[in-house]
Amino acid sequence: MQILDGKEVSKKCKKQIFKQVQALKAESGRAPCLAVVLVGDDPASQVYVRNKIKSCEEAGILSKEVRLPSDVTQAQLEEHIKKLNNDDSVHAYLVQLPLPETLDKTRVLDLIDPLKDADGLTTSNLGLLFASRPRVVPCTPKGVMKILEHYNIELAGKRAVVIGRSQIVGLPMAHLLLGANATVTVCHSKTAQLSEVTRLADIVIAAAGKPEFLTTEYFKKNAVVIDVGIHRKALEGDKSKLCGDVNFDDVKDHLLALTPVPGGVGPMTIAMLLQNTLELFKLRLQV
Ligand code: NAD
Repeated sequence: MQILDGKEVSKKCKKQIFKQVQALKAESGRAPCLAVVLVGDDPASQVYVRNKIKSCEEAGILSKEVRLPSDVTQAQLEEHIKKLNNDDSVHAYLVQLPLPETLDKTRVLDLIDPLKDADGLTTSNLGLLFASRPRVVPCTPKGVMKILEHYNIELAGKRAVVIGRSQIVGLPMAHLLLGANATVTVCHSKTAQLSEVTRLADIVIAAAGKPEFLTTEYFKKNAVVIDVGIHRKALEGDKSKLCGDVNFDDVKDHLLALTPVPGGVGPMTIAMLLQNTLELFKLRLQV
């Protein structure tokens, strides 16, 4: 089985982004700036935000962190969003999800200026994607498409199954695959006999958020599988390790290719966040 190495592909993308940022800096005297809004102290979100900021540095992109306490009110958070919309030094930003349950995520996302929407999750940007006129594409599905492209995995005419229908992964993923002329089926928590559907697929995108539940019986021989899931699995003592939705050891002699967890889709998501930031900066500069 071939390992689809997202870490390697993301390094290549980051190098290209760095080069483009340097060229734009030389031309315009300005560098793109990404802001990240973090509400509360969820440990996983803190790690994600730290990684995003660090990756900005590596790509020559400026960054800014807006940290808010978990008891911030909806009105206070919305004020911060409006400030970012009006801040000319910020070219792109995101609100780290999940937000505390007291806050209305949809209202917050839809206040983001679509031309600064680094995650591509505003209704306006999702609508453009679903109308086949993509502007800012959500980072994770965009990263999956990059991996498939890098490894020359043919999509036209192939049967693709997406497991999951979230706005952040499953739905945009399905549209991108359709745009690449795959025949796409979307499965979800109410899908009956999931394995009977996935077994027909040449390509499976697993984004159900259930640790290691996908075993050999879910895939036809020599399928290509992209594992979007990320879970922390407890080991003996106080040790733990990351795993995906796919049971790696079980499928490794059965599939043609698979993304590992970690080192698959995760690094690509961050690389595409940088790519979106660069693209929004270029839109602003009109270059
Ligand atoms: P979500 O909870 O919003 O959506 C999960 C989807 O899976 C839902 O549509 C649900 O109907 C479906 N589902 C749940 N159980 C199922 C089952 N047994 N069979 C079929 N479908 C089922 O999650 P999400 O935000 O879309 O994320 C999915 C996974 O991807 C999570 O593990 C998340 O941590 C991970 N993720 C990874 C990255 C990355 O960069 N690698 C980015 C985003 C999300």
